[in-house]
Amino acid sequence: MEWLLTPGPVRLHPKALEALARPQLHHRTEPAREVFLKARDLLKKAFQTQGEVLVLTGSGTLAMEALVHNLFSPGERVLVPVYGKFSERFAEIAESAGLAVDRWELPYGEVPSPEGVARPGYRGLLLVHSETSTGALVDLPALAKAFKEANPEGLVGADMVTSLLVREVALEAWGVDAAASGSQKGLMCPPGLGFVALSPTALEALRPRGYYYDLSRELKAQGEGESAWTPAINLVGAVAAVLEEVVPRLPEHLALKAWQNGLLYQVGEELGLRPVPKVASPAVAAFYLPEGIPYRAVKEAFAQRGAVIAGGQGPLKGKIFRLSLMGHYQRYEAFGVAALFKEAFADILPTS
Ligand code: PLP
Repeated sequence: MEWLLTPGPVRLHPKALEALARPQLHHRTEPAREVFLKARDLLKKAFQTQGEVLVLTGSGTLAMEALVHNLFSPGERVLVPVYGKFSERFAEIAESAGLAVDRWELPYGEVPSPEGVARPGYRGLLLVHSETSTGALVDLPALAKAFKEANPEGLVGADMVTSLLVREVALEAWGVDAAASGSQKGLMCPPGLGFVALSPTALEALRPRGYYYDLSRELKAQGEGESAWTPAINLVGAVAAVLEEVVPRLPEHLALKAWQNGLLYQVGEELGLRPVPKVASPAVAAFYLPEGIPYRAVKEAFAQRGAVIAGGQGPLKGKIFRLSLMGHYQRYEAFGVAALFKEAFADILPTS
């Protein structure tokens, strides 16, 4: 079996595999309702919200789109700093929802500053917490605070797709009103579920929109442990099983993820590789390719050792490579990955 060193989908948690092997549940029965409510309850703990978390069948992008469409109306002004592929996607979603979008374009790898978002006249600010395409992490609490000082009625929406269960997140305490995430990253489950977390403020601000992703309709159905439509209930079972294991020991889990990603950067530094982000997210380690080395060669050196890695996206395509231990990796396995990384580069880099 190959080692997935990709930033999603990731190596599955054994509890997810176990849950996925169970017989099919019908989604409108009591055992399914129990699983659904358990997953939602644990997700609220993971997002640290007193509001609600809705589970949608679809990927993280659906959760981002549902968040934007159900919190903002066409014509409303939103500020979207663009500093990677997924913040770019947030801007595109907001544009397609008919919002008046002000993009603040930054070079890929950088992150927005609080001063830069302290601009009045906006209904919303959309931010990606962990910008997986560059490996950068933004200071969400500082940005939300600066934005809200300038826009007391404004709402902050965050993409927490690769920060949920990878790094601490806290909705209300951070001034974040709504967040989107997905099942195939820090949750160590297969792809197929999107999550929308709504703070009490966001719940009051909901404006029903769309059909499949009408969050008001979902709120009603999911309060009773069901979903308006047929949910991917098997995946909901996997999510509940993983969260049951991880949430009670979240601080240790987050410390392991931080240490593992730090180890990847440490090896990169030893090999003389230049990191892409200025402020690193623990979800992924991103490095520029050494001069004259094509991505294909790096990918191949890892593949020969049974590992799958990721390349660059957008303007970083062909310029960087990315490794991630966001999936289920024990501490000792991370040492194995570090050794593999060194060995692969011993092949790639010409000896001096
Ligand atoms: N946002 C971030 C930060 C991501 O890393 C990803 C996926 O890589 C997405 C959004 C999109 O999620 P999905 O591919 O599940 O739609």
